[in-house]
Amino acid sequence: MGVRVVKFGGSSLADAQQFVKVANIIRADESRRYVVPSAPGKRFNDDIKVTDMLYSCHDLASDNKDISEVFDKIVERYNGIIKDLGVDLSLDAEYAEIKEKLINHASRDFAASRGEYLNGKILAAYLGYEFVDPAEMIIFDNNGVFLLDETVQAMRKRLENIDRAVIPGFYGAMQNGKIKTFSRGGSDVTGSIVARSVNAEIYENWTDVSGFLIADPRIVDNPKVIKVITYKELRELSYMGATVLHEDAIFPVRTVGIPINIKNTNDPDASGTMIVSDDSSEEASKYIITGIAGKKGFASINIEKAMMNSELGFGRKVLEVLEDNGISFEHMPSGIDTMSIVFNASLIDGKEEAVISQIRKRVNPDHIEVEHNIALLAVVGRGMRKTRGIAARIFAALSHARINVKMIDQGSSELNVIIGVGEQDFEEATRKIYEMFVFSEEEE
Ligand code: ADP
Ligand code: ASP
Ligand code: MG
Repeated sequence: MGVRVVKFGGSSLADAQQFVKVANIIRADESRRYVVPSAPGKRFNDDIKVTDMLYSCHDLASDNKDISEVFDKIVERYNGIIKDLGVDLSLDAEYAEIKEKLINHASRDFAASRGEYLNGKILAAYLGYEFVDPAEMIIFDNNGVFLLDETVQAMRKRLENIDRAVIPGFYGAMQNGKIKTFSRGGSDVTGSIVARSVNAEIYENWTDVSGFLIADPRIVDNPKVIKVITYKELRELSYMGATVLHEDAIFPVRTVGIPINIKNTNDPDASGTMIVSDDSSEEASKYIITGIAGKKGFASINIEKAMMNSELGFGRKVLEVLEDNGISFEHMPSGIDTMSIVFNASLIDGKEEAVISQIRKRVNPDHIEVEHNIALLAVVGRGMRKTRGIAARIFAALSHARINVKMIDQGSSELNVIIGVGEQDFEEATRKIYEMFVFSEEEE
């Protein structure tokens, strides 16, 4: 029988009621043998994630302030879950040890990792599964670089004779023994690594939405679910801010073709989203586009110079200035006499004038300006390759809505179109594009 690895996100484990749902899901299928929990997330809108409370404790301790008030709240949350579930478990010794370490300036990563660690202890006790600490298996070098091959080897060995286990998400340890976490949302990555190590037939990622939605549900009302998405499309969407799945969660499973299924803990019967390798991309999606995602916080340098096109080395000189100033760029749309370079606005903080004057010196432009408050939107879809005029349709929809399009750039893979708009137009642009591809096609 195949093995399934199941990862549950913070909201799926936010309180005892959610734990009960999680246990029911796990028990409903015997192949769900390896479970990766996150730390308790938000129970309601203004709630605070345990991970954030742990970061607060760390910050207070570094200022030599008392952590008791925040730490007690963390203890209260875990003890509430233990009590409501009725499990026979005391974590008092663990709390005392962790508090002591936090007060004595344990690292930020150590602090954050305890959220998953403690939640894993509770879930393991509740399910009757063995608890296996990822610090023994997930390996980073001493600079904090994750080592996949070493990890897979260590994990295979450790789990070889363990039939069912709970493995907390989000962290591992460096070769020097110090705890190291992935970046925020990193339990997704742990799940993926476990799936790879145990050669899972599928990696189920359980969250609070019924799959990857065509657009961010906080912007579009009730967006439709994406049934099948390829790793490549997902990567484009995650990179642009659709944060359902951590972007690094793809690479451990991608090379070996383990599919990821995004599922809803609150609606387990919904089929969710299947993330598959690019080979199966032939499977048609219902709509030409697969998804829309975007981010604010970009800026662009716009340069004009007559005959720039025929000036040898023009682009290189401009890019060298950016390179010297540590600015990596996202997009570079250009015309005959114009060139724009779009990048993350934070990269030019405090050096705007220097960068502009260096570019002036190098290429002597007719006009140069920095434009701020740009949002980028990615419209992604494997179906776009076969369809003409996508960019034109997007452009038409947006100009009809009187949204000024600052740039539009079709990726060379023909898998995506990137659109730049003012930040104030970001949400409306997302909705217009959604309507154009999802609603209008439905009527056809
Ligand atoms: P978890 O705690 O389970 O890891 P996350 O909060 O990391 O869950 O991810 C799920 C959330 O991602 C959803 O609740 C939703 O608000 C947000 N989200 C953003 N874009 C999308 C999208 N395109 N589809 C689905 N959810 C999205
Ligand atoms: N608990 C961690 C976070 O809040 C990791 C995760 O949830 O995946 O970022
Ligand atoms: Mg997440």
